[in-house]
Amino acid sequence: MSTEFDVVVIGAGPAGYHAAIRAAQLGLKTACIDAALGKDGKPALGGTCLRVGCIPSKALLDSSRQYWNMQHLFGEHGITADNAKINVETMVGRKDKIVKQFTGGIAALFKANKITAYYGFGQLQPGKSVLVKQHDGSEVVLTGKHIVIAAGSDSIELPFARFDGKRIVDNVGALDFTQVPKRLGVIGAGVIGLELGSVWKRLGSEVTILEALPEFLGAADAEAARVALKEFKKQGLDIKLGAKVSKAEIVKDEVHLTYNDGTADHSLVVDNLLVAVGRKAASTNLLAEGTGVKINARGQIEVDDHCHTGVDGIWAVGDCVRGPMLAHKGFEEGIAVAERIAGLPGHVNLDTVPWVIYTEPEIAWVGKTEQQLKAEDIPYKTGSFPFAAVGRAVAMGEPAGFVKVIAHAETDRVLGMHLVGVGVSELVHEGVLTMEFHGSAEDLARICHAHPTLSEAIHDAAMAVDKRAIHKAN
Ligand SMILES: Cc1cc2nc3c(=O)[nH]c(=O)nc-3n(C[C@H](O)[C@H](O)[C@H](O)COP(=O)(O)OP(=O)(O)OC[C@H]3O[C@@H](n4cnc5c(N)ncnc54)[C@H](O)[C@@H]3O)c2cc1C
Repeated sequence: MSTEFDVVVIGAGPAGYHAAIRAAQLGLKTACIDAALGKDGKPALGGTCLRVGCIPSKALLDSSRQYWNMQHLFGEHGITADNAKINVETMVGRKDKIVKQFTGGIAALFKANKITAYYGFGQLQPGKSVLVKQHDGSEVVLTGKHIVIAAGSDSIELPFARFDGKRIVDNVGALDFTQVPKRLGVIGAGVIGLELGSVWKRLGSEVTILEALPEFLGAADAEAARVALKEFKKQGLDIKLGAKVSKAEIVKDEVHLTYNDGTADHSLVVDNLLVAVGRKAASTNLLAEGTGVKINARGQIEVDDHCHTGVDGIWAVGDCVRGPMLAHKGFEEGIAVAERIAGLPGHVNLDTVPWVIYTEPEIAWVGKTEQQLKAEDIPYKTGSFPFAAVGRAVAMGEPAGFVKVIAHAETDRVLGMHLVGVGVSELVHEGVLTMEFHGSAEDLARICHAHPTLSEAIHDAAMAVDKRAIHKAN
């Protein structure tokens, strides 16, 4: 079999499989290499996202939400569900089935698009070739007119809290607990800590989240973060801010933690500890000597605005380069690079990448926060609307949260949209669309929104920018 390709992609996660499929669609002879194995020990395409990230976490969030609603919300609808029980093995089995369906789906898409898959670890060599150490022990060298590096990211491990896969875990372990931990400690109140902390909290764990930073969700709009924090506290998530962990020791079947909250050392004993302090680019051993590709101090592959490394024919996309570590950011970069390789004008606008945290309530945003606009001295006006005044949200029993539209004070152009509430992972795209089309708050306010829907919160928030919301006092 020929090992010469137009495009060789290293990594079949969201960024890599998008690059490979788009390149193949454009008539380029494409290979894609991936090192990952699934839970069954067999190669599994789809990267972090499909195996141990986006999809399995959402499967467990959905299962646990059904259980929580049964215990906490069904009553107000007049539905009695005494003696609710959760079978963790069935729940995790359902998640595994979904993962298998989707990782297998990528393999089928590769076949349909005539992409050659190689299963093993790829290392970029000088001069546009990749050495692949395959799982069967053999080696093969692939050459490409273009190489796309899409190696993704790995969990950051803390030196004092090494993963043992059972008591001290990262996302991989926390997606596979065999029983509900009685006490779960989480280091890091970021997206992964909040989502996986929520899963086990809803199933009955006492969850304590220790966050070293003094503010909650610093990347989000401060008002949105405040509203969400209040809701999480109501649910019983114990989130301690400014709590720096210095020690985590496994003692028999427990993990003994020491943290400092700025005034004194405290101890916390939990049954399992999830370390969710962020992810780092997976660049170890990725590049042989002399490739010319640069890696920065954070381990990321250096690229320009078009994901080009500066070395002829070598590109890099997704979590292993700068920008938000989000699957859909990787999707867009993968497509854009394939299109550029084919001579088309591929481009990604990082300013309109939406962010979503799939907690209850969900948190979503696009564009600038109020704190960013203040720091950049950009004049702005805001309009907000609470879901408690939206008929559909109240009928659903989901009145928490709000929508805030931020527009330029002079031009009215939408600069950001911040949402907390049910279903806002879908609603945020109204903000993305408006910003992509350089729309104004007035545009949003004049667009007819169906009644009763959750999207009416966006309509009224846009009207509130100009102090003319109908369903609240302005
Ligand atoms: C628990 C969790 C939940 C998440 N939820 C969301 C979410 O809801 N929404 C969202 O947008 N993002 C989410 N993310 C982030 C998302 O998973 C990543 O941003 C995304 O997977 C990055 O895609 P990627 O293709 O760059 O890298 P990855 O998905 O990490 O894929 C890289 C692939 O390359 C392979 N690889 C690496 N090096 C080599 C090599 N040298 N040779 C061969 N193969 C190699 C790896 O095995 C892997 O399969 C979540 C992450 C986690 C951990």
